[in-house]
Amino acid sequence: MTKIALLTSGGDAPGMNAAIRAIVHSCQHHQYECIGFFHGYNGLLNDKWQTLIHQDVSNVLQFGGTLLKSARCPAMCTPDGPKQAANTLRKHQIDALIVIGGDGSFHGLEAIKAHWQGQVIGLPGTIDNDLAGSDNTIGFATAVTTATHAIDKIRDTANAFERVFIVEVMGRHSGHIAFNVGLATGAEAILSFENCDPTNTAPQLAQLIAQIQIQKQHNHESFVIVLAENLWPGGPEALKTQLAEQAGIDSAVCVLGHIQRGGSPAPEDRLLATELGLAAVNAVASHRDQVMIGKQGNQIQEVPLSYAISAAKPVDGRWVEAHSDILTEYLIKHRE
Ligand code: ATP
Repeated sequence: MTKIALLTSGGDAPGMNAAIRAIVHSCQHHQYECIGFFHGYNGLLNDKWQTLIHQDVSNVLQFGGTLLKSARCPAMCTPDGPKQAANTLRKHQIDALIVIGGDGSFHGLEAIKAHWQGQVIGLPGTIDNDLAGSDNTIGFATAVTTATHAIDKIRDTANAFERVFIVEVMGRHSGHIAFNVGLATGAEAILSFENCDPTNTAPQLAQLIAQIQIQKQHNHESFVIVLAENLWPGGPEALKTQLAEQAGIDSAVCVLGHIQRGGSPAPEDRLLATELGLAAVNAVASHRDQVMIGKQGNQIQEVPLSYAISAAKPVDGRWVEAHSDILTEYLIKHRE
């Protein structure tokens, strides 16, 4: 009987449970045995696992997090880690390993592959949406929805106090969340890797100050800056200090943080996770190896893991342009 191992790795993302559920159901359909390893790659190194059947995945798809738990596993980046993981897979006579995670997790899959003959399949599970080969990753839609609702609430208090707010959103080193959320909330400013050079923030700071001052002259109620994490040197607190020191602008800081990773997955993520989970088991049945299963232009696609890891996945240029156009039009209108 074909035996599939499954684990979730790296930052958890809403929809991982839906993907696990789909994989377990599909394994039962194909009459494959499915076992889940716990705590990311740690489960392979510590041999912590359980067999997964229908009952284990009932009533889970509506919850964020992951029933298999997730974790970082630094030992995988040492020469012995992947060898040990491969030994565990051999010990259990596993035919295929499916990992739901981000690019780091896919590096782990490739490292294991160097010591193991079985099939390795990746599913894109990260809120950051930074994996090439899939238009969206599992968890991204929920993170955008959560951050949008949070900023809508911040907007209420910002309006009431006529305040400038700096809201930091997640995304690691890409601006998918920043641009989607910034546009969805009508943020007055979006500062992200795509439109701001972290080694030379002076032009952005000057533009931001000018924009806030123009807005204040026209009695607008509030001003929301969506800031991508890991962008601004010193983070949002440093930006707040610079606004105060260079232009006397008072602002409030809100770091949305881990609430973006949690919560009930949005329907888009449940559906994407279900489709990709089913396709992952089909890929095992079709003897595919070292591929990531993604969805592009409404089609399920397989791309080499190496491509998913190394190819750039830029923010859609239309979003960056749309924000820039809105800003330019606003400045022209209010300078008249
Ligand atoms: P996210 O970006 O959403 O947090 P991720 O999968 O990129 O997800 P990482 O922390 O980068 O998260 O990686 C998850 C795990 O993958 C690491 O803790 C480690 O066990 C393994 N891993 C990462 N990079 C490598 C590598 N170069 N070689 C082997 N294993 C790796």
